[in-house]
Amino acid sequence: MIAFSGNPLDRASERRGDAAWLTERRADSATRVLPLWKLQPLLLGPEDASGTTTGLGFLDGDLAAGLGSPQAVEVFLGMDGGIAYFARDISSLADPLAASLASHGHFRDARSAASLLPAHEIAMLGQAKALIDWHNRHQFCAQCGNPTDLADGGYRRICPACKAEHFPRTDPAVIMLVTAGDRCLLGRNKRFTGGHYSTLAGFLEPGETIEEAVRREVYEEVRVRVGAVAYFASQPWPFPSNLMIGCFAEADTDAIQVDGNEILAARWFDRETVRRLLSGESNEVSLPRRDAIAFHLIRDWAERR
Ligand SMILES: [Zn+2]
Repeated sequence: MIAFSGNPLDRASERRGDAAWLTERRADSATRVLPLWKLQPLLLGPEDASGTTTGLGFLDGDLAAGLGSPQAVEVFLGMDGGIAYFARDISSLADPLAASLASHGHFRDARSAASLLPAHEIAMLGQAKALIDWHNRHQFCAQCGNPTDLADGGYRRICPACKAEHFPRTDPAVIMLVTAGDRCLLGRNKRFTGGHYSTLAGFLEPGETIEEAVRREVYEEVRVRVGAVAYFASQPWPFPSNLMIGCFAEADTDAIQVDGNEILAARWFDRETVRRLLSGESNEVSLPRRDAIAFHLIRDWAERR
């Protein structure tokens, strides 16, 4: 499973603009609310039980309503069966566990929480974190500077002064496995430690197609020319609000020249070598985490005959 994908909730986007409907959902006794403190979700269970699977610490609506400031940002995540799910920012609390939450669990940063949660809850966490983070950083109108108001359960902000509407951002990035017949190209990013190799990646620019961004980024990072580009899958990546668009990219040229800036080293790996790395028979270099789309790109290619 690609982490942060497979969200089970019905976002009810056709209904959430109806303020009365949303107020009813929020007041329903079955409603569940996930508190986030400084973008860290509440997880069930004790903090020292690291490594064991846990769950998101959804609270009942009344308990959550008393946490943090009365103006705390609250966003609607969606419906599952008849139950509504929300997330609430309780960052104004100095110590969130001091009050009523200590018996419920602990707070943990979203990246490491993602390795402890079941897949459907990782996706819900990604949605909650990306949305709340956006609200925290977009309190004021980009057009006139006045404070804006949350609307549509968190999927819009409206400026009461100039009427401008602002929508939550998703920033697309391309992530691509460059291939040439029976070989693929992996690089070592300056942010990686040790012998970690992965696919290349970069942000799309305004006025650019996915294919154009793939070709530009590959040439920029390793000076390899890419021809055909094929879409594979995508991954929401809420750090802070990206969408990773996974592609395969066929190389037209062979010689690698790393930029030395973002990519420190890059080389061609043949399919057999990649298979041995995936199976653990070889540890010559380390590959991406299994929940990352980069891993899925590499594995999909390696398993082809
Ligand atoms: Zn404005």
